[in-house]
Parts: sequence; C-alpha cells; structure tokens
Amino acid sequence: MDLDAPVQKLYKIGPAYAKKLQSLGIKTARDFLFYFPFRYDDFSDITKIADVEIEQIATVQGQVVEARNIWTFKKRMALTEAIIEDDSGAIKAVWFNQPFLTTTLRTGATVNLSGKVSFSKNELVFSNPAYEVVGYNNSRNYTHTGRLVPVYHETYGLSSRWLRFHIKPLLIFAKKIEEFLPLEIIKSHDLLPCLLAIKEIHFPKNLEIAEKAKRRFAFEEIFLIQLWNFLQRGKWQNNESLKIHFQEKLIKEFVASLPFRLTDSQRKAAWQILKDLEKPAPMNRLLEGDVGSGKTIVAAIAVLEAVSQGMQTAIMAPTEILAEQHYNTFLEYLNNYKIALLTGSKSLLNNEKISRSGILNKARAGEVDVVIGTHALIQEKVFFKNLALAVVDEQHRFGVEQRARLLKTITSLKDGIPDKIPHLLSMTATPIPRTLALTIFGDLDISLLTEMPKGRKKIITSIIPPAGRRDAYYFIADEIQKGRQIFVICPLIEDSDILEVKSATTEFEKLRKVFPRFKIGLLHGQLKPKEKEEIMLKFKNKETDVLVSTSVVEVGIDIPNATVMIIEGADRFGLAQLHQFRGRVGRSEYQSHCFLFTDSQTKKTHQRLNALIKCENGFELAEKDLKIRGPGEVYGIRQSGMPDLAMVGLSDIKLISETRKAAKEIFEKDPLLKNYPRLKERLKEFARNIHLE
Ligand code: ADP
Ligand code: MG
Repeated sequence: MDLDAPVQKLYKIGPAYAKKLQSLGIKTARDFLFYFPFRYDDFSDITKIADVEIEQIATVQGQVVEARNIWTFKKRMALTEAIIEDDSGAIKAVWFNQPFLTTTLRTGATVNLSGKVSFSKNELVFSNPAYEVVGYNNSRNYTHTGRLVPVYHETYGLSSRWLRFHIKPLLIFAKKIEEFLPLEIIKSHDLLPCLLAIKEIHFPKNLEIAEKAKRRFAFEEIFLIQLWNFLQRGKWQNNESLKIHFQEKLIKEFVASLPFRLTDSQRKAAWQILKDLEKPAPMNRLLEGDVGSGKTIVAAIAVLEAVSQGMQTAIMAPTEILAEQHYNTFLEYLNNYKIALLTGSKSLLNNEKISRSGILNKARAGEVDVVIGTHALIQEKVFFKNLALAVVDEQHRFGVEQRARLLKTITSLKDGIPDKIPHLLSMTATPIPRTLALTIFGDLDISLLTEMPKGRKKIITSIIPPAGRRDAYYFIADEIQKGRQIFVICPLIEDSDILEVKSATTEFEKLRKVFPRFKIGLLHGQLKPKEKEEIMLKFKNKETDVLVSTSVVEVGIDIPNATVMIIEGADRFGLAQLHQFRGRVGRSEYQSHCFLFTDSQTKKTHQRLNALIKCENGFELAEKDLKIRGPGEVYGIRQSGMPDLAMVGLSDIKLISETRKAAKEIFEKDPLLKNYPRLKERLKEFARNIHLE
C-alpha cells in the first residue's frame, strides 16, 4: 500500500469519485488521512429502546423485525420503513429515497441506529437515522453509529458516511507516515505523536483526545510557519548590504524643515530604521501604520540618508497613481537629487521625459538616486551601481513571489557581478494584531505607527438605518454643492467578484438617478488596471463627484477633497476593514463623515458598528475582529493561503507563543536542520504548499 498512490487505486473508487475527491483536495491515500473532520456527532451512548425519548438524539441496538419499501406515487418517493427491537421494546425507523436499504436491513440482522427521535402518528420514530449493521462478533468498533462519529466537509455526491467508509480502512496504513516533529518537542509540549493523532482525529475515543489531536496538528502548522520564519531570517542575515552611516545633522535639519512635527511613533520608527541601516546585515523591516499615519515621510528619511551618501534607492508601489504620487512627494522632499519615475505608461527623470532604457542605463551608471515605479520596475532585470535600500509600499498588495522577485531583480553590480543586496523596508496599512504579525511576518522586524498626526479633524461616523437614507442623500448633495467629493463602497459579496461587480453596477445606476446632476464614477475589480487608473485619476482631478467602488478595489491614494465615505451593507465587513475605508476621508481641513448603511437591526450589529464610532485605532479594531470573528476575518489574512487549522490556531495566543518557543529552540540548536532531515523535508513541502516560497 503506497500512501502516495492516486485515489483511483483504492477500493471502489473510480474516475468519477476521484474527480469529486479532487474538489476536496484529496488526490492520494495520504490526502485522505489528512482530510480531517470539522466536528463529531456524539452517538456514543447506546440506550435501551424503552428508554428512548422524544426529541432526543439516541443510539439503539437491536434486531430488524421487518424492513419494507413503500412507494408514494404522488410524490414519486420511496419510503423505507423498518421495525427494530431489543429486549426492552421495539421502535420504528423511516428513511426517504433510499430503497436499497432493504437489502442491508435484512430481517434478523443486528443493527445500530443513531439519530433524532420524533413523535409521529402516535408513536416514536427515528427519521433518517444513521445505521450500521453490526457484525457477528460485535467488536464495538463502529463507524457511523454508537460512538463519536466524525463529520466532514462534504461535496455533492460525497457524504460524510462515504468518507468515513473510505478513510477508516486506511488508518491501519497511517503507521507509514513518519513523525517529523522532533521527539523533544513532542515531549516538552505534550503533543500526540502523529500516528495516534491521525487515528484520534478521525475516530476519537472521547472529545478530550479529539481536541488533543487537533491541537497537535494546529501546533504543527504554526510551528512550521515559525520555523520557516526563523530560517528565512537566518538566511537573510547572511547576506550583505551597504552600510548607510547615520547622519545626525542632516536628518535633524531635514526634520526641522518639514511643515509639520513628526509624531512620536514616526520618530521612533525612523530611529529603528536608521539603526538597522548602519549594519552590514540587510534590514528586513515592516513599517505598519493606519492609513494616513504618515509612513511615506518615514521612508523618505531613510531614503534621504542613503542618497546623501551617494547610494541609490528603489521604491515600488502597487499602482501607477500611487507611484506617481510618491514621485511628486519625493521630488518635493529631496529636491537636490535625481529622481526617476518608471511605470507601464510613463518614464520621467526630474520631470523630464526619458526612455525606459534611459533610466535603466542611468541606474546602472549610478546617475540616478531614486527610482520609483510599479511592477514595471521588475519586469526585467534592473541593475544599480550601488543600491542600498529598497522600499515596497502597500506590501500586502504584492504577492510573495513578487516580493521575492523584487529582491532578485534589482541588484547592485560590482565589476559586472551581482553584489550586495539592498536593505528592505516594507510598508503596510493592514492593521494586524501583534500576535498575528509575529507569526505571519515572523521573519521581519516590525515598526508600528500607533498614532495619527495631530490636528486632524475627527471623522464623524454614524450608523444609518434604511429610514435615514433620504436625509443622508440630502447631506451628500449639499457636500457636493460645496465642492466636496464622495466615496461609496458597495456591499461585500463573499467569494464572488462577478456578483460584487453586478451589485456595484446597480448601485452606480441607482445613484445616477438619485443625483442626475452630479458626475459619478464606477470602479471594480473586473476592470483592466489601466481603466482603474483612469477612473481614479478622474476622481483625483475632480472630474467626478462620486466614486462608487466595490470592496475589492482598495482606494489607496490621497484625495483630500473627499469628505464623505459611504459604506453600503456595513455589517458585512470586518471592523478593521471598515476602519480602512474610513481612513480614505478626513485628510483635509474640512469636516469629514463616514456613513455606515445597514439593514440589519440586530443588537450584535449595532454593538459591532458602535465600536467603530468609539474607536479610531486600527490595531484595537483588528484585535476586536480577532476576538469576535476569528483570524480569517482579520483583513488580508484570508488571502494568505493559511491552512485551516493554522488559521484556527492563530487566535490562540498561547499556542502561538508555544510554537514560537519550540521553533526558536530547534533553530538555535541546529540552524540548518542537519539533524532533522524529516523536519527539513516537511518544512520545504509545507512552504511550497502555502506559497511561502
Ligand atoms: P500613509 O501612512 O497612509 O502612507 P502618508 O504618508 O500618505 O500616509 O501621509 C498622509 C498625509 O499626512 C500626507 O499628506 C503627509 O504629508 C501628512 N503627514 C505625515 N506626517 C505628518 C505629521 N507628523 N503631521 C502632520 N501631517 C503629516
Ligand atoms: Mg501610503
């Protein structure tokens, strides 16, 4: 029996079933064993038939007295009726549309029935119970009844019963699965060994041991993520970067010349970054701060320090508009330097047109200080003479592969050979709670901007029930008359881009009728990048008054003139995400508003949305999300390809710190995992599967 053989090789599984299994991610016998139930039906107590009560879940064991099919012509249905008796009494059971059951439930056979008992036509009846014929020896090794019965996520044509039937006989081969966790970790963290955990997660003796089995696998996944992070960090630290000396006088003067005072967190973050840059080991730091918390200026300080010493920097942004916005900002801040913009449609050097290859040549010759661009920057190799620092803005918008590519693509050359790698500064507005950040971004150092620049007007947030919509529209019309602009975010529709686009289009049409005199734009994920950019640009240039957008489109740019953020179906969003939307307004001297439209009148909705009115801190809101809705809902994590159990484990702070400790212990003892070949192998596979690599 080869665990890696395709499922077709297994008993009674043909191509049709194999295809269905594939939709559950099951391709091999091994995958079967790792397809875990998400809950159990507790059918473990076997009662006497005489003791069965109405509306109770019960399991009985008895002999079949008779079983027959009744065809109901009107409904074209088969009704199977059976009478089961034990030494205390008899009970009826009925099933719908399973006429083949009569061949299983033969008169005289001993069977178990598990399920809910109801009262119908003056008697107690099991309706559609789980059933199982008990063998002669009655070893009590039941599968579908009389025990904790695993319930799996099903798909059309593959029931939990079917899955149990196929998984159970495979369990004896589970011993072929090698334990990859180091023994010392298993012992010191009181984990179930792999073999036992697999058996108990499918067919547990009791709920306690089922929990333990689950914990073992959650532990394993988060442990692997953490260990991977330690190894990545170790590898990264083995590279070499240019040392950028700390220029106290220059930085002080620059900061003093700004039209505003840096916040304390901006100072602290800049300090942490400047300290890192002095070292020959490359920095790998994430600057995390709410929308509008002022990350750009912190990056500018780091960039200034590099270019003032004749070193080069590269900045990558996810959209052309954002790249251009940065280009203008940097031209303003660093007016003595050569700054280039390189996007799909534009290439400029200090406001003069230049060809793409012109910029690339200058980068290579060391004749440009800062190159700012989009993905276009990394489409082909870009060589720099002495690249010291790379900045990735809105890093969550770039895939893992793109980030890795960036580091491989932009390179310093020495005598024509790739030389040092740049220090890396990533920036994100994703407010991920610290515990999660430590796991997901465990290979990075983190600087947080925890406060907003002073002097910002508070955004007035209100919950608008359906009855308030009219007044809200009058208010909006008034704002537009005054020259302001409006964002409208359409309801989140899970897992369907298409439906979301449809609902946004409907909303757009509706608003065109409500506000016939105003210009309205529509933005959604099905548009080409180029079209999106144009629509954003029109809004930025005040050619449109209202921008209707789906939630998939992140409106990452600065539009100070927008003063109202409307969120339709607000109850469907996570708090952190609502907070992100809200952060798009409130960037000017005008008073800004955020309207949370909702049809839901439940107390829970109002409590949740009220938290948003009271709280203005993205991190706090993300923590709340984590508590209320679990880690999958914390903005940005769901897309990361995390396995389910790891996802569950991520809300378990104790598990996170335990796994981190374990990973650290192993990494410090054996950073190359020389003595843990199986662990090393498993780690590689894991990283590949969840796209860490
Ligand atoms: P984000 O963190 O979202 O990238 P930005 O860097 O775009 O935020 O900054 C938003 C706005 O706040 C910019 O116009 C910037 O000039 C301004 N800003 C940044 N820091 C401060 C500060 N300490 N005081 C006042 N305004 C600031
Ligand atoms: Mg920004």
